[in-house]
Amino acid sequence: MTGLIILGTRPEALKLIPIIKKALDNRFSIVIVSTDQHEEAITHIFEKHNLKLDYRLKRTQVSSLGEQIASYLAQLSTLFHKKSFDFVITQGDTLSAYAGMLFAFFKQIDFLYVESGLRTLDLDNPFPEEGLRVMMSHIAKMNFVPTQSEKDNLEKENIASNKIMIVGNTSIDYLMGHMPKNQKVKNGQTILLTVHRRENWHFLEDFFTRLVNFAQNNPHISIEYPMHFNPTIQKLAKEVLSESSNIHLYEPLEIQDFYQHLLNADLIVTDSGGVQEEATFLNKKVIVIRDKTERIFTDENIQIMSITESSLFDEASAMLHKSFFTDSFNTIYGDGHASTRIIDWIKKEYER
Ligand code: UDP
Repeated sequence: MTGLIILGTRPEALKLIPIIKKALDNRFSIVIVSTDQHEEAITHIFEKHNLKLDYRLKRTQVSSLGEQIASYLAQLSTLFHKKSFDFVITQGDTLSAYAGMLFAFFKQIDFLYVESGLRTLDLDNPFPEEGLRVMMSHIAKMNFVPTQSEKDNLEKENIASNKIMIVGNTSIDYLMGHMPKNQKVKNGQTILLTVHRRENWHFLEDFFTRLVNFAQNNPHISIEYPMHFNPTIQKLAKEVLSESSNIHLYEPLEIQDFYQHLLNADLIVTDSGGVQEEATFLNKKVIVIRDKTERIFTDENIQIMSITESSLFDEASAMLHKSFFTDSFNTIYGDGHASTRIIDWIKKEYER
């Protein structure tokens, strides 16, 4: 049995590493390819885990999504024109994941899709992710979905239930395996911010300006902002935010540093799906700054608001004042065993 795993971004690496490690523990033969969309983060995460990338695709200058896909597909086809696999695994909704699916489809190899079934039901939001995941789910031989809600989404699209398996989200596997031991002692309140989604780019300057205002009016609140890799966002963030003494900007953090910030935060403001899952698991207060999210779980701790919403910072203040504490975990997105379920299924299906 030989499998091909294709990934390219930080969240794909974090969510696929639990599967890769279990596959290697079980002595599966796997080939790992990175498209290197987040080259530095991928290098770092793989080195940290002593894992080897078998191939790294060349990053070519492209000016459209179509050219990007074409470049990935051409490189994969050249690399593996003589080699076949029993299955190809990708995760999520990136161009790398989609190219992996296309490669599998054209070679008539089983495509196994991790974290399938997320939907906003709006092809324009997030674009192109929503469309990519719809197409990938229909080609997959098996859709590993996090929760019942994603299974329902797929069944509404007439995907047969024997092609869907609820396993939980592997982000929780990773988090449980790398949880910092303690919350750090600190003074005052802390907000952790992450923002990177394409849909929000247009509104970022205004959002940052309002954030500076909020920070000035609330000097006792410390705002911790690990920036995303995107150089345009980093430039803008530095220009608008760096003068504020209680806004702290960081280069993208190593995952365990980030988890420590997550544990320490009194409130998390984020547009990241992965951070939403992790914060929910830790029962943290969260404002998800998106018009539409495919992760629909909300409770008194979780608000979903547009980044342009004028009451956003009032809501942040109100949430900081609410006292709600539980040291239990919320396993709505996963219980830490998703990768075991996936590997067990692969073993049954392909080990003869
Ligand atoms: N993350 C990280 N360092 C940071 C910020 C986030 O390691 O400085 C992790 C975070 O814990 C989560 C993942 O990156 O697991 C989220 O990735 P991202 O925000 O890029 O994308 P999304 O979740 O929207 O796909």
